[in-house]
Amino acid sequence: MSDSVFPAGNLMKGKRGLVMGVANKNSIAWGIAQQLAAQGAKLAFSYQGEELEKRVRPLVESLPGNPFMVTADVTDDASMDACFDALQKKWGKMDFLVHAIAFAGKDELKGSFTHNTTREGFKRAMDVSAFSFVDAAKRASALMPDGGAMISMTYLGSERVVPNYNVMGVAKAALEASTRYIARDLGPAGIRVNAISAGPMRTLAMAGISGGKTLMKTGKDWSMLKEDTRMEGVAGAALYLLSDLGHSCTGEVLHVDAGFHAVGVPDIADEG
Ligand code: NAP
Repeated sequence: MSDSVFPAGNLMKGKRGLVMGVANKNSIAWGIAQQLAAQGAKLAFSYQGEELEKRVRPLVESLPGNPFMVTADVTDDASMDACFDALQKKWGKMDFLVHAIAFAGKDELKGSFTHNTTREGFKRAMDVSAFSFVDAAKRASALMPDGGAMISMTYLGSERVVPNYNVMGVAKAALEASTRYIARDLGPAGIRVNAISAGPMRTLAMAGISGGKTLMKTGKDWSMLKEDTRMEGVAGAALYLLSDLGHSCTGEVLHVDAGFHAVGVPDIADEG
């Protein structure tokens, strides 16, 4: 962990939370986890299946604060029961939840949305990428009697048409709407619920999208800052939303994409 990239401090001291969605060192969830750990958070990580455990365990064990790992396939109720039972046994209560999970089949992340989206593919993308946040939020909130904070990860393809993003864009729209509805339900319990809309970042999930390289290049070239979305910016936004710095902020979708989301027309050459 590099302190210069993920500044150290005490903003998360005494807070415990679950990070869902670390697949490898490039995962957005891993960047967020490193930042939260550097600020004193105690972390649990959920992973899907044995293969992933082998990859994720060395990362998790490199963090301070004795983080622990629990298995959770978000499409399986029994697996989610076991995950949150384990958290309850270990901690009793928790303070935050990071949801950084999404899936759509490769064949559905290319070409025509209208023609390539199957009933099964639509249901699966919605289940893994949107309903799983509703389900995890319900379970996590039961362990937050003193209030807390939750975040989900989204992308601009929910608001605008992004070629090849297709069914995932529709699932992200559902995720963002769910984030607002959950925020309303949990607000009276002092639980804040927000989403971060990150620009394109080089991860396994991104590699599954046809034309991902062009998406990355356009994300930089058309952005206001003329740079890639940086992990420290996304992790910093997560720190803000999950720590007490984020008081009064809930039901929000915070764009961290070098300003790309607000650009209407990319640069125009001077026509004299
Ligand atoms: P990533 O490293 O591939 O993370 C995606 C995670 O979702 C993986 O850990 C994956 O586990 C997990 N997952 C998929 N199906 C699951 C299931 N049934 N149960 C439990 N876990 C499951 O990619 P990432 O880019 O960091 O993605 C994290 C989040 O950020 C996603 O919501 C993504 O849509 C969002 N996001 C990404 C970008 C980007 O450009 N990369 C931009 C904006 C938002 P497996 O490896 O086992 O499938």
